[in-house]
Amino acid sequence: MRNHLAQVLIDKGIADKKVLDAVREIPRHLFIDSSFEGHAYQNKAFPIAANQTISHPFTVAFQTELLEIEPGQKVLEIGTGSGYQTAVLLKLKVKVYTVERQLELFKKTNLFFKKMGYRPKQVIFGDGYKGLPKEAPFDRIIVTAGAPVVPKALLAQLKVGGRLVIPIGFEEQIMTLFVRTTEKEFSKTEYGSFRFVPLLENKN
Ligand code: SAH
Repeated sequence: MRNHLAQVLIDKGIADKKVLDAVREIPRHLFIDSSFEGHAYQNKAFPIAANQTISHPFTVAFQTELLEIEPGQKVLEIGTGSGYQTAVLLKLKVKVYTVERQLELFKKTNLFFKKMGYRPKQVIFGDGYKGLPKEAPFDRIIVTAGAPVVPKALLAQLKVGGRLVIPIGFEEQIMTLFVRTTEKEFSKTEYGSFRFVPLLENKN
């Protein structure tokens, strides 16, 4: 079923072999509620805890491909959710720092990582709008919730040459890639439209 899913992603344009291998290896059915288990290898999103969703496999693959990951890099993920995207990043042999603002999901997924032997560098309960200044700068940053605008803190926490992939918009989001070309300059490229749950700001 995982090979079939990888083929569906290839047919939809995903070409990065390492990303496809990660999809072939990761047991996505364990990241979702058992009532959806039978559908885990379809290109579908499913509800997880706290009214959130696990992203479509195509979305995960598309964002990861845009990151152009190299082993050993330091990667910040905003929106841990089910942890599936985190697992894909870990398969690419990077150091992952992942931030989640829903306490229930943070706790649940943190336990799940331990049970499964997935080892992100840090799983943080916090507000992704702020990034993770203590651990900055990052080679790569991925945001897995729809942001109305690009958070300034995330751009600031990117290394020169670093890449930030973020869906921007309200009802629908445009997948957007920022590359920090110099200390002060960023290039911006827009890709297709997607639908994410919103990137929410903490009310504290
Ligand atoms: N990568 C996850 C996507 C989950 S959906 C997966 O495939 O399972 C997006 C996640 O972003 C949700 O878990 C949501 O709670 C989280 N989120 C929303 N706003 C956030 C914020 N400001 N900081 C951190 N996480 C946030």
